[in-house]
Amino acid sequence: MNYYVMTLFPEMIQQGMNTSIIGRAMAKGLLSLETVNIRDYSVTGNGRIDDYPYGGGAGMVMQAEPVYRAYEALREKIGSKPRLIYLTPQGKVFNQKMAEEFAKEEDLIFLCGHYEGIDERVLEEIATDFVSIGDYVLTGGELPSMVMMDSIARMVPGVLSNQESGQFESFQGNLLEYPQYSRPEEWRGKIVPPVLLSGHHGNVDRWRRNQSILRTLRSRPELLLEVDFDKKDRKFLQSLVRGEAEETITEEEKSFLAKLLAF
Ligand code: SAM
Repeated sequence: MNYYVMTLFPEMIQQGMNTSIIGRAMAKGLLSLETVNIRDYSVTGNGRIDDYPYGGGAGMVMQAEPVYRAYEALREKIGSKPRLIYLTPQGKVFNQKMAEEFAKEEDLIFLCGHYEGIDERVLEEIATDFVSIGDYVLTGGELPSMVMMDSIARMVPGVLSNQESGQFESFQGNLLEYPQYSRPEEWRGKIVPPVLLSGHHGNVDRWRRNQSILRTLRSRPELLLEVDFDKKDRKFLQSLVRGEAEETITEEEKSFLAKLLAF
């Protein structure tokens, strides 16, 4: 996977991506990262790339031409026309499925905006995807691009060790991950759930699956609408609704589950 980032702050990207699992994957050659400083393509030649917005209003807008020139230079260098993701709070909200889809590409270009954003005309010309990392506004697209690159990189074969990549993780099968515990067995009076110490793999798997369902119900119930429940899951859900399970849920959660089970 080759990442290209068009930005006004290349050092921020380089520093942010050079550590831990992603840094290791780059050292191994599984990922590459190239930053393009949009300022180098200033039309005035003095590094200025922004101007006042037509129609008035506060803030500055990144001009179309420097962005376009930076893109053209990059495209020529790559020798193809990869997908170009413009990071914007107005885009489709990033999720695990999108990460999986982007991970199938060989090259990806990320375009980071700043100030009030980028002249619409160049976005119409070069952007293939408009992606947001959530419903809030940041000062620039650098952090969002790094969020995306980190999450996409985890899907690239070899980036995670075998042990890491075999793990169940949140959003797999539309469920959140079960709670995790490590040593010691007792910490400040709190004990690890005994089933995890039982050595009985079947019981451990069932407990984890139930906890995943429960967590998802409590934090992100809408995800459950897309879960493929098996017989044992349904039995657990029914026991929750009837108040027969060890775990208790609210009346609101019960009525949500009752509707879900009716389908
Ligand atoms: N005026 C823009 C608007 O209201 O939609 C916001 C511009 S924001 C201050 C500057 C840049 O930060 C954007 O061009 C974009 O690249 C990036 N950005 C801010 N919030 C973001 C988010 N939630 N997701 C992705 N990129 C974001």
